[in-house]
Amino acid sequence: MTDTIGTPVSSVSAGPAASVAQQRRIVTAIPGPKSDALHARRLAVVPVGVSSVLPVYIARAHGAILVDVDGNQFIDLGAGIGVTTVGHTQSGVVEAATQQLNDVTHTLFTVTPYEEYVRVAELLAEHTPGDFAKKTMLANSGAEAVENAVKIARKYTRRVGVAVLEHAYHGRTNLTMAMNFKAAPYSTGFGPFAGDVYRAPNSYPYHDGLTGAEAAARTIGYLEKTVGAYDLACLVVEPIQGEGGFVLPAEGYLTALQQWCTDNGIVFVADEIQSGMARTGEYFASTHFGLIPDMVLSAKGIAGGLPLAAVTGRAEIMDAALPGGLGGTFGGNPVAAAAAVAVFGEIERLGLLAEATRVEQTLSAGLLELQKKYDIIGDVRGVGAMIAIELVQPGTGYTSKEPNGDAVTFLASYAAQHGVLILTAGTYGNVLRFLPSLTITDALLEDALSVLDDGFAELAAK
Ligand SMILES: *Cc1c(COP(=O)(O)O)cnc(C)c1O
Repeated sequence: MTDTIGTPVSSVSAGPAASVAQQRRIVTAIPGPKSDALHARRLAVVPVGVSSVLPVYIARAHGAILVDVDGNQFIDLGAGIGVTTVGHTQSGVVEAATQQLNDVTHTLFTVTPYEEYVRVAELLAEHTPGDFAKKTMLANSGAEAVENAVKIARKYTRRVGVAVLEHAYHGRTNLTMAMNFKAAPYSTGFGPFAGDVYRAPNSYPYHDGLTGAEAAARTIGYLEKTVGAYDLACLVVEPIQGEGGFVLPAEGYLTALQQWCTDNGIVFVADEIQSGMARTGEYFASTHFGLIPDMVLSAKGIAGGLPLAAVTGRAEIMDAALPGGLGGTFGGNPVAAAAAVAVFGEIERLGLLAEATRVEQTLSAGLLELQKKYDIIGDVRGVGAMIAIELVQPGTGYTSKEPNGDAVTFLASYAAQHGVLILTAGTYGNVLRFLPSLTITDALLEDALSVLDDGFAELAAK
């Protein structure tokens, strides 16, 4: 499909978002003049610390397409970092949220409760791994879920240590900054940081070549030496690391860690904020690895774009906090909770677990083809609609696997100029990650892959 040129800008904002044609279309330079004007206003009033990957200002979005204020249409392979998993302005979510907005917008669950919060907790108890009594508390953001999980694990175990893994990302609050692997930009200059956080080596098969058992022995050995199991309240792990570059651990790694946690009274917390909520073809990625965490964290995809996060865990652990010890003014807001209930319904109604597998097949087949043509694609990995390619310097794919962040920067920019939004990731910025909505068509994926192919060809010719 070629970029179509020439539709007048004034025609853009007419009609509901649902009428947005599912195709890419570039009609101005990227960013266009209206985006540039908005960007100038923004730079005057929004701090540079809040940056944007692609400063095109979005007027409407539907399905897998973003429409900017200049009338450009982008194939969205990022879904707001894995948030609009059911698609942008998905009708079931829009209807449920609109209805709830009219019925009751806010009471504060810890003042006077409402059913939607309870329903989300029931759905999470049903769909998170493990066949035991579970309870859920709701919060506003992923980082807040991580903070609460650590609070609860500490209260339950009466220990303070928090173990995390290399290449992890857990958020931007004070505690979660200390839990992230990467300093710049997340924590540079923002200290002092929370103490009692211990970072251990992870499993990264492409680089370490270790089996799951070997990598787990390394992680456990490191933690036993540097802190000691007895002082650890919890181990917080992303079953598939998100910002770290969609790092899938070797088989058996996570279950070995889980066994060690169980043997030593350490709460195993799965941060499924990016990998959860049907993204990988299971409700939670833990299931792919046979992992049954003590606590599961959800956020991003849970409410179709509304802010909501959840901590779901074994009932006896979750009940450790005193009454009033958990909560927050907006946590589990009725509109966000109603949207989340709708998301669960739409996952079932639209068969989105199977759709995630379809997206995986189309994307990984296309990316493996590209890997045959371009040797800088060192690794193609992922599950469901959570697929990434790791780019390395030419000729190093079988040896040192040197990170190639410049290629990622070039390709993301090339794709954006041609109407495809692709996110980057990886500790060294050398990963392109694909996190589209599960409702994206194969035609759009193939169109986006052809743009990427052209980008690789142009890069190779430079
Ligand atoms: C995004 C993310 C977070 C933080 O969530 P926020 O809602 O941005 O606070 C934590 N953990 C993982 C794995 C994430 O992807």
